[in-house]
Amino acid sequence: MKTIRSPSAMTTWSDQLHREGVVIGLVPTMGALHDGHRALIRTGRRQCDALVVSIFVNPTQFAPTEDLASYPRPIEQDRELCRTEGVDVCFEPAAGAMYPKGFQTLVTVPAIARRWEGQSRPHHFAGVATVVTKLFNVVRPGLAFFGQKDYQQCGVVRQLVKDLNFPIRIVVCPTVREQDGLAMSSRNVFLSTEDRRIAPIFFHALQAGRQAIENGLSEAASVEALMRKVIGGEPAIRIDYLAVCDPTTLEPLINIDRPAVILGAVRLGSVRLIDNVHARSTHGSRQHRQGLAARED
Ligand code: AMP
Repeated sequence: MKTIRSPSAMTTWSDQLHREGVVIGLVPTMGALHDGHRALIRTGRRQCDALVVSIFVNPTQFAPTEDLASYPRPIEQDRELCRTEGVDVCFEPAAGAMYPKGFQTLVTVPAIARRWEGQSRPHHFAGVATVVTKLFNVVRPGLAFFGQKDYQQCGVVRQLVKDLNFPIRIVVCPTVREQDGLAMSSRNVFLSTEDRRIAPIFFHALQAGRQAIENGLSEAASVEALMRKVIGGEPAIRIDYLAVCDPTTLEPLINIDRPAVILGAVRLGSVRLIDNVHARSTHGSRQHRQGLAARED
């Protein structure tokens, strides 16, 4: 496995492989790799001839009050995981190489980034969209792999690929969880022992919401109240948002009459967790079927 630090050397490597007709895959990460990243890497390995994993803790997606300085950076461990998984290149640019003095341009995807994470973290998605655009231009992959755990991020990336005509297929991989249901995250190491014990309640609440929708509850407000009640059992968990949304626009649903995604973010101590689940409304599919039948009459 090669380690490449300079963006121009990265592009030279990719261009050479393109001339040989090689399909390159990219897994963008901020390092502190866990089994969630490993699943993306394995999917990438299966679907591409050559695989690049970028490890870059992107400063522009952190607000000054956030955890940029303390974000975990176990680079030797990360390289070892990449080596074991058959990654061809670890791309590890320095912040100054990605954002040299005088850097100005920002990529923004306003509508899909507006709510949820965008509201809690106002500059976050401009940072994400900008760095993903740069990584796509530098690495020039044919496919890029992202995790469903960051559902809104996947929406932002799909939109920018479409709007900016990137010839890249975005592959979204399912969320990998700990045995007790907690979504794996590089930030989970910051949970205290007690907070780690209660953290899975967040996922249990999302599951309760999904179950209620699948049992026919069709008012989003009632589903949200139910999820809040589950989490309310643990006063240490503070809810940032919990919402039943349209899976494409991420606009909140009032009446759940179609497939939905439940998005959530909570805080436990100083750690912020995000997660989501899909839910298919039986009510909606019945209505949908009735609608189709009515059209056929
Ligand atoms: P990060 O290093 O946290 O920026 O994540 C890099 C990529 O890994 C993103 O596409 C994430 O959505 C994905 N990812 C992070 N955690 C998980 C997980 N538990 N399951 C699946 N994908 C994940």
